[in-house]
Amino acid sequence: MSAAFFSTTYAQARRRFLEAARERSAVIGSHRHARQGAEGEELALDTALLGSPDADRLFIISSGTHGPEGFSGSACQLALLNDELSRRASERGIALLLIHAVNPFGFSHLTRTNEDNVDLNRNFNDFSQAYPANPVYEEIHSLLVPPSWPPSERNEAKLAEAMTRLAAQRSPGVSSGQDRHPDGLFYAGTGASWSNRTIRSILQRYGRNRRHIAWIDIHTGLGPYGHGEKIFGRHSAETTARAKAWWGADLIVSTAAESVSPRTAGYMMACCQDECPGAAITHSTMEYGTLPSPQVRHALRGEAWLAGHPIAPPDLVAAIRRAARDAFFVDADDWKGMILGQFRAFALQTINGLTTS
Ligand SMILES: [Zn+2]
Repeated sequence: MSAAFFSTTYAQARRRFLEAARERSAVIGSHRHARQGAEGEELALDTALLGSPDADRLFIISSGTHGPEGFSGSACQLALLNDELSRRASERGIALLLIHAVNPFGFSHLTRTNEDNVDLNRNFNDFSQAYPANPVYEEIHSLLVPPSWPPSERNEAKLAEAMTRLAAQRSPGVSSGQDRHPDGLFYAGTGASWSNRTIRSILQRYGRNRRHIAWIDIHTGLGPYGHGEKIFGRHSAETTARAKAWWGADLIVSTAAESVSPRTAGYMMACCQDECPGAAITHSTMEYGTLPSPQVRHALRGEAWLAGHPIAPPDLVAAIRRAARDAFFVDADDWKGMILGQFRAFALQTINGLTTS
């Protein structure tokens, strides 16, 4: 049953999302992307608003910030559209905003980054300021993105040695973000991306005049198989206490040593404060584990290599894309069940928390 909510292409996920949203009489918004999808389809960042447009509390759930991670986020949204929980939110005066495919290009083309190899969760920066230096990434870039793909045995051995040496480095860590290598991993870009501008416009449209906004951004690729970690950033003591009261003691603050996430600069949900300054904001990333981290890293490296070698042989391109999909989406019923089960509990906690806020 759970597996039925998971799609196998962006086009299918989008069609099902829009159909379910229409059936629920949601207010739908579609922001067209300039590029085409992998099958020549239209790409768009779609939104569905359920409940009263004037509700003073808003619950946002976003998917696909990192391309193929959207297979899970989209399934969670589709499940929620078919769940009485979403009606319960409306009855309690909470509006629900589903943001489908923050990165539609990556979702369709199976790249974690966007059309310019930008990691969108490093792109929501103040670009009038320098992006934080990342000497750890700098040290390892040429090993992560070798001149040829697949990498040589020598490259793999040197990278493994370097990763072991740098494993304890977290602030910054390898994946914290960098702005010096457009063909690298975790590239922040040099300006606000299309998705960044679009998300901000959506928040301006739907988030202004809300008293309280809760936001869950759904990700995959870090942590144990199927386990969902609720990652929470560094916030005021009051906001942290509220988040723990809503979401429980298993909420992990991303600066804590046990978090699967490194400290990052420019993550998407930080923009909510800019665009909705009058609202109390409680947000968290849901991060589901997929494959062991060396395999996930290998997929990211292939993707970055391809960004710097766009004229690669078609078979090699297909293998790299397939590896990216497999790194962020496990096509197995037990995994899919874990995704949706944990998401439902998280959504229920959020609705209960907003109800009393
Ligand atoms: Zn992600």
